[in-house]
Amino acid sequence: MKEEAASRNGKRKRQRNPKTPKEEPNETPKNQNNDKKRQRDTKTQKSNQHGGSSALSKRPTPSNFLDTLREKLSGGNFRRLNEKLYTCSGKEALDYFNEDPTLFDMYHTGYQQQMTNWPELPVNSIINWLSSRRSSLVVADFGCGDARIAKSVKNKVFSFDLVSKDPSVIACDMSNTPLESSSVDVAVFCLSLMGTNYSSYIKEAHRVLRPSGWLLIAEVKSRFDPNNGGADPKDFVKAVSDLGFSSSLKDFSNKMFILLHFKKKFNSNKKKIEWPELKACLYKRR
Ligand code: SAH
Repeated sequence: MKEEAASRNGKRKRQRNPKTPKEEPNETPKNQNNDKKRQRDTKTQKSNQHGGSSALSKRPTPSNFLDTLREKLSGGNFRRLNEKLYTCSGKEALDYFNEDPTLFDMYHTGYQQQMTNWPELPVNSIINWLSSRRSSLVVADFGCGDARIAKSVKNKVFSFDLVSKDPSVIACDMSNTPLESSSVDVAVFCLSLMGTNYSSYIKEAHRVLRPSGWLLIAEVKSRFDPNNGGADPKDFVKAVSDLGFSSSLKDFSNKMFILLHFKKKFNSNKKKIEWPELKACLYKRR
């Protein structure tokens, strides 16, 4: 009986294994999709050669199988964390990562992977902009991620993120930074207007910027596509202007991201500001 049970289990296992990856959540960059397609094509060829019945012919080699499984799991975790960041407040996000900082590493591994699909990184546009100006400008990088700006320019850069993975990064919710009022020349938000309370981040930037200071925003283009559920960029620019900025650049030329530059005005307006909702940038399960 035992032998029978063992062999039944063995049989069941053999049948289940090749399916396991399909049941896991998945998020893979496009280039990996090609790999996946190539794998699928190879499998189809093999199963045709073997009359389509051999489990062995469908099974990837062990290292491929583990790599694929790891990718699928980390991709799924990234998608979940990304959605969380876009659908909660900064304070909730801070509490969430404080409870388990390893989730932050997970998020950033997935983020870096996603970025490999982008032909050009918006953070590089910001680095170029800073490099072409006086290095005496003091910069605040709101939602700095791996603090690439601080590592790439000569300026004094205050880098903020929810978790500090580097001594130079200050861990905080960026709606409430430890900076003095009117103390920085450039405030940067590069793909970081994520929380439902994003307007409070821009208000914080307004507080810490000196008059005539720069506010540089790079965001995912689809978030500002009103034909596709995104915000109307005009409404967004108006809201930021109403807070006490003047718009100095609207660049929609890149396929993936938009660049908006503003300068802080001397007097801020006191009127009620209509902030448009910014669509979450969610990644599809592939
Ligand atoms: N600016 C970087 C990272 C972009 S990813 C780059 O362009 O490469 C967005 C970052 O914003 C993440 O690291 C996320 O943790 C951070 N972030 C989101 N909401 C935040 C908040 N309320 N306070 C601080 N950082 C925040």
